[in-house]
Amino acid sequence: MKIRNLGIPLATALLAACVTSPTGRSQLMVVSDSQMSQMGLAAFNDMRKQGKFVDAPRERAYATCVSRALVAVLPPPWNTQQWEVQIVGDDTANAFALPGGRIGVNKGMFKLADNQDQLAVVLGHELSHVVARHGAERVSDNMAAQAAVAAGTVYAGSRGGDANTAAALLGAGAELSILLPFSRTQESEADTLGQRYMAQAGFDPRAAVVLWQKMGAQGGSKPPAFLSTHPAPGNRAEALGRQAQQLLPVYQHARASGHAPDCHL
Ligand SMILES: [Zn+2]
Repeated sequence: MKIRNLGIPLATALLAACVTSPTGRSQLMVVSDSQMSQMGLAAFNDMRKQGKFVDAPRERAYATCVSRALVAVLPPPWNTQQWEVQIVGDDTANAFALPGGRIGVNKGMFKLADNQDQLAVVLGHELSHVVARHGAERVSDNMAAQAAVAAGTVYAGSRGGDANTAAALLGAGAELSILLPFSRTQESEADTLGQRYMAQAGFDPRAAVVLWQKMGAQGGSKPPAFLSTHPAPGNRAEALGRQAQQLLPVYQHARASGHAPDCHL
């Protein structure tokens, strides 16, 4: 099949694949959850093979305890998924969650987040990127951009090609974009959702303000790795403070009805 025949069906597929995020935002979605899970698991296994994970049973048990409490309040299918937590041997304050049920927390995060509420801020934010399908959205946006380039190339008649070329273009985009930074819109959405999940799980949502302030103050002129991959809008602390007040009744109700996690190092 010649690439020119791909133009219209691909465009149709892209248009047909809009979904709505948990905060009501429209998202382009052309990769499935199972494809994203495969990519997440592959990326995590690569890290394992490269020896990035360290034997830190106390930290791992602590992060697993906080993760479990958060996962319990996630919407399906995330709440019934098996989530594996590993500790990454890196002294910078960073963490990630991947589709497929994998979480990594850097050793350095435990120096910065010094209680379960603050660790829940970080893990709630990371899990929210997965629940809101931010990785799939980013892959889909890349694929749409590449499809547009491919279609333009064909129309211009400047290059011959076949379906394999298009497939290779799309594949390269998907692989590269699983570990790329998120957009500002996605970061704000992860903040909002993460704070909601932590309150529902019985973690104090006011810890979000403290944690992000500490993160911002760390490192002086050189921002910590977590902020370089998680760009923060200037009004982040203000928005989180306002949301924390709104979420206090949710948090208090959660504690009173048995969601009272007790995780510590
Ligand atoms: Zn983020």
